[in-house]
Amino acid sequence: MKNADVLIVGSGAAGLMAAYTLAKAGKKVTVLEACNRTGGRIRTIGDTMFFTHAELGAEFVHGNLPVTLQLLREAGIAYHPAGGEMWQYKDGTFVKDAAMIEGWDMLMQKLNDLQDDTTLQAFLDKYFAEEKFDALRDSVIRYAAGYDTSDPARVSALALRREWQNEDEDAQYRIEGGYCTLINYLTEVCKQHGGTIYLNAPVTHISWQPAAIKATTADGEIYEARQVILAIPLGVWQAPAIAKGHIDFSPPISEQTTALKKLGFGAIIKVLLQFDEMFWENVSAQHHDTLKDMAFLFTDEAIPTWWTQAPGHQPLLTGWLGGAAAAQQAHTPAEDILQQSLQSLSHVFNIDSEVLKEKLIAWHVANWTTDPYICGSYAYDTVDTSTVLALLKQPIADTIYFAGEFMYQGPAMGTVEAALISGRDTAQKLLKL
Ligand SMILES: Cc1cc2nc3c(=O)[nH]c(=O)nc-3n(C[C@H](O)[C@H](O)[C@H](O)COP(=O)(O)OP(=O)(O)OC[C@H]3O[C@@H](n4cnc5c(N)ncnc54)[C@H](O)[C@@H]3O)c2cc1C
Repeated sequence: MKNADVLIVGSGAAGLMAAYTLAKAGKKVTVLEACNRTGGRIRTIGDTMFFTHAELGAEFVHGNLPVTLQLLREAGIAYHPAGGEMWQYKDGTFVKDAAMIEGWDMLMQKLNDLQDDTTLQAFLDKYFAEEKFDALRDSVIRYAAGYDTSDPARVSALALRREWQNEDEDAQYRIEGGYCTLINYLTEVCKQHGGTIYLNAPVTHISWQPAAIKATTADGEIYEARQVILAIPLGVWQAPAIAKGHIDFSPPISEQTTALKKLGFGAIIKVLLQFDEMFWENVSAQHHDTLKDMAFLFTDEAIPTWWTQAPGHQPLLTGWLGGAAAAQQAHTPAEDILQQSLQSLSHVFNIDSEVLKEKLIAWHVANWTTDPYICGSYAYDTVDTSTVLALLKQPIADTIYFAGEFMYQGPAMGTVEAALISGRDTAQKLLKL
């Protein structure tokens, strides 16, 4: 039996930010993490011969996000602007800075006029049902699936409006040494202030009464505390009871566990391909241009979105498949996803896929949807999100608290920033600050 003031279940950005805040405030904190590493959906691989600081999960700081950037400065971790040219490959040609979606301004105008929330699908069906909008509808749905990994029949139109109005295309950053440096910093500060982190400790059962928590891990170990912060992913909350990460509560907390199922959580497959050269850099494109400074490439291929390490020049291409298409391929073997990736690049660059395969020196398919302790990508708002979050933000008997990126509401939804803010705010609520 191990005792603490506060137990935190899950050591992603949210759990660790809560641990960091509480430990610094003098609380005795114990973090229980199911996996053999901290970070959750932040996973930098830098210990292999081929990938130097490649990100299997979060990669970009999407804007001038105050909490993330403040933590990086505090930790003395450098970050650098990311980005370069945006290219689109369509109907056999590369087009630079193409208006990504034709009719976008018209769409935003209608969205700006929207008073009551509805789903993206219902919004498009109401205002853009005519045949002449077929391409616009298709592009918008693919955009929301690609970036937000969302289901159009569930995602909130007002939440997308908030996000699309706030897009700050100029400010994107990569963290020197990878996102894991931020995780390592939070872990170290937590430990320096007396916090303990147990890895390989999936919580399976929590029995509780006001001001008394007893958490049991898969190996039968029991951890006691006055309060608990549950910082596990939404995908785990929504998974069936037989799923590995599932936690049983006695007495049950049915109102909250039922409500959690009404939030949106997407699917994602991220592919890292390390080649022997940057074969794309010399490809001729529009107006005698080349793809030398390409950052992003949007295509209609099976793996549609690709990016480089721009402004750095490294022979690494990252592929991205999100939303319903990623969910459908959740159980496709990694070798088949690799094949689809090479085939996609082969069509675009007109290079035989076997030749591309020979150029490949390392590859990795990160399929987060089948990770038993993550079960998907990140949250998107549904029309029920506000009501559900209002409930979840009320701690149960000042004893059970919820945290995680899905608990955040605002323009940075689905990001590390969202997770950090949620972890910080939950800890402050517990401290009654
Ligand atoms: C492929 C991908 C790319 C992304 N790219 C970006 C990006 O570029 N920029 C950005 O800002 N965000 C990005 N995100 C989103 C970002 O990674 C997440 O929003 C954020 O990391 C989530 O943090 P969290 O603490 O809420 O959850 P998590 O990081 O998922 O942490 C939850 C933890 O709980 C643990 N757990 C689960 N069940 C149990 C249990 N029963 N007992 C104990 N522990 C348990 C898990 O193992 C995990 O470690 C990306 C996400 C993915 C998947």
